[in-house]
Amino acid sequence: MKIGIIGGGQLGRMLALAGYPLGLEFRVLEPKPAASAGDVAEHVQGDYDDPQALDAFADGIDAVTYEFENVPRASADRLAERLPVYPPPAALDVAQDRLVEKTFFRDHGIPTAPFVRVDDREGLEAALDEVGAPAVLKTRRFGYDGKGQVILESREDADAAWEELGGRPLILEGFVPFRRELSILSVRGIDGRLAAYPLVENTHDEGILVRSRAPAPDVDPETAATARDYAERVTSALDYVGVLAIELFQHEGRLLANEMAPRVHNSGHWSIEGAETSQFENHVRAVAGLPLGTTETVGVSIMQNLIGGVPPLEAMLAVEGAHVHLYAKLPRPGRKLGHVTVRALEEERALERAERLADLLV
Ligand code: AMP
Repeated sequence: MKIGIIGGGQLGRMLALAGYPLGLEFRVLEPKPAASAGDVAEHVQGDYDDPQALDAFADGIDAVTYEFENVPRASADRLAERLPVYPPPAALDVAQDRLVEKTFFRDHGIPTAPFVRVDDREGLEAALDEVGAPAVLKTRRFGYDGKGQVILESREDADAAWEELGGRPLILEGFVPFRRELSILSVRGIDGRLAAYPLVENTHDEGILVRSRAPAPDVDPETAATARDYAERVTSALDYVGVLAIELFQHEGRLLANEMAPRVHNSGHWSIEGAETSQFENHVRAVAGLPLGTTETVGVSIMQNLIGGVPPLEAMLAVEGAHVHLYAKLPRPGRKLGHVTVRALEEERALERAERLADLLV
């Protein structure tokens, strides 16, 4: 069976790496000549909205998935006419637009920060009346890693925020002074069975994920059950197949949904070593219609991203228990070039190993 992946980045690379032991083959559609996944998958070079490229990509594959949420909906639909496309293309509509996404959460009983649609300068004033300050103004589409958003400490920041983002469809959200950020990774099979990984604790720097710890410490059973319930609600509403990530704020004992990613997610990379079945293997299992693997964890894992530069391999590997994953990408400031996971059966040891690695990363 050959699986086609739209997008040839590191997520595609790790999906292919997870699928080969199961005898699966992979092809990626990626416009750039150099694709991280190109080392381990057939590379069809073409634009995501080019019908000819899409048809060439589709010839000879058995199922389609994607590794980023900004896949044009029309392209997913074109492929879906002749092949199974998982997760279902409807998930793209939800994940591509922050307003649709937050409304979807609300409609399915999942709490979020207060939010209001903003279409013009007067709309921003009206939204501030409703949400108050501090607040976060975000573009509805194409925001990632903290891009396309501005914090308004007070109403006086409205002009500057508008200057920066105005003219595009926007959303204003109440600023949540959260205790911490968590995520729930789940996977749903073609038979509708849902498996969830334990909650992950995430640390961001300037909007970019730098570190994930799994299982998140200090999670009571009720919080764990709530997160799983959110995953259940989203995936059953969309008749979902594959891995879904939901990013959450923990605030005053509640879990507020911030966004969802209909794909494997950076906050699930720890699962390669830290779970019985990684998010990547479970995603390809789901897409291939195979039984899902157990999501049970093995010890405590801490994943740290290699952003903008990569320390010497020898130094990283000298840290006991370090598992290095390099994505074969050229260095650029702010670019995710790889990640390193340390895992240990005892929490203390995992933390100590993570500190030794963190010292190399600064
Ligand atoms: P996003 O692009 O929505 O994932 O936002 C990137 C990061 O900005 C999040 O991981 C949070 O750290 C922060 N952030 C986003 N929205 C809010 C909010 N409403 N309140 C507080 N922090 C936020």
